[in-house]
Amino acid sequence: MEQQQTDPDRVRDVIVVGAGPAGLAAAIAARRARLDCEVFERAALVNSILKFPTNMVFFTTPELLEIGDLPFVTPYAKPTRDEALRYYRRTVDAFDLTVRLGYEVSSIARQPGPDAAAVLAVDVDHPHEGSFRRLARTVVVAVGAYDCPNRLGIPGEDLPHVSHYYTEAHPWYRKRVVVVGGKNSAVEAALELYRSGVEVTLVHRHAELGEGIKYWVRPDIENRIAEGSIPARFETRVVEIRPREVVVESAAGRDVLPADAVLLLTGYHPDTAMLRRFGIDVDADTMVPAHDPETYETNVPNLFLAGQVISGIHSGRIFIENGRFHGQRVIAEIARRLAPAGDAVPA
Ligand SMILES: Cc1cc2nc3c(=O)[nH]c(=O)nc-3n(C[C@H](O)[C@H](O)[C@H](O)COP(=O)(O)OP(=O)(O)OC[C@H]3O[C@@H](n4cnc5c(N)ncnc54)[C@H](O)[C@@H]3O)c2cc1C
Repeated sequence: MEQQQTDPDRVRDVIVVGAGPAGLAAAIAARRARLDCEVFERAALVNSILKFPTNMVFFTTPELLEIGDLPFVTPYAKPTRDEALRYYRRTVDAFDLTVRLGYEVSSIARQPGPDAAAVLAVDVDHPHEGSFRRLARTVVVAVGAYDCPNRLGIPGEDLPHVSHYYTEAHPWYRKRVVVVGGKNSAVEAALELYRSGVEVTLVHRHAELGEGIKYWVRPDIENRIAEGSIPARFETRVVEIRPREVVVESAAGRDVLPADAVLLLTGYHPDTAMLRRFGIDVDADTMVPAHDPETYETNVPNLFLAGQVISGIHSGRIFIENGRFHGQRVIAEIARRLAPAGDAVPA
């Protein structure tokens, strides 16, 4: 593989895969530990937040989104997506992190290093610069779980008017949209669409909305459903999507809902194929990657995890609030391993 870097032979202390909040928190911890660290991000900085609904407001207060103890200053109790994007850009600048944007890590494998110890060979692809290999003593995989939506596996799911992501309502003004799901993403999309002059129908497979609906959103959606301004089909499944309609099924039988667009907001899961390509074992049922719960080291020695990727199918269990602390713990362990015998581990 072509060696395409300024210093190809240098073995990095740490490579971080993914520049989401968890990956950035790990990179800050590495910088504080004076480790040679480089972050590879395949898309934009904090790309998951970038893909969130344009007008999204976090359920978390700003201080719980902070990384590296850099204050998240906002006049609001709950920050907006735009403020979060600005905050994480500012964080990269403030800590002068080495973040390579647009570089996708395609594989990771152990190989003999320049000294006796094994190193991790990290293969990186860039659309214009081609492919190259970096060597690192340790790698932190912080790839999140937002790029793999939970697919329904039904006919029509890949039609052009179907999406697993919601951005904004305006394109659907005076049109009919079917929103599938019963958690925050689905409920908030349905409310915003309704308030933007869209004819919305909510379809949910369970009898009730999810327990974790934001406390200030719940009365709003429940009242809109009760008054009929957002018709809701509970205990109903979508079985087929056609270009202008959706076929749903419930105990009462099959029905057809007209739809100019369909939003399948049914959650996300880690990219298990990618994790396996990195050599990481993944539980077939839970999609949880194999790891030590104390150090977050995977079954591959010196290959660690951080952030939402750890949570498997239960992607709501790890979010920014708690995933931001993984990096500190991982880097403390890495610094301990890399410190020359007898040296104090940097704080
Ligand atoms: C609508 C919505 C609202 C939310 N609101 C909140 C909230 O209020 N509070 C909260 O705490 N959490 C919230 N969350 C959850 C939170 O966004 C995630 O938990 C968080 O983004 C996870 O951070 P992460 O760094 O682990 O992963 P991510 O933020 O997903 O970052 C992973 C990064 O890795 C990159 N990547 C993936 N594969 C590769 C590869 N092979 N090579 C290079 N880069 C790669 C991705 O492009 C991405 O940028 C919300 C989630 C959603 C969907």
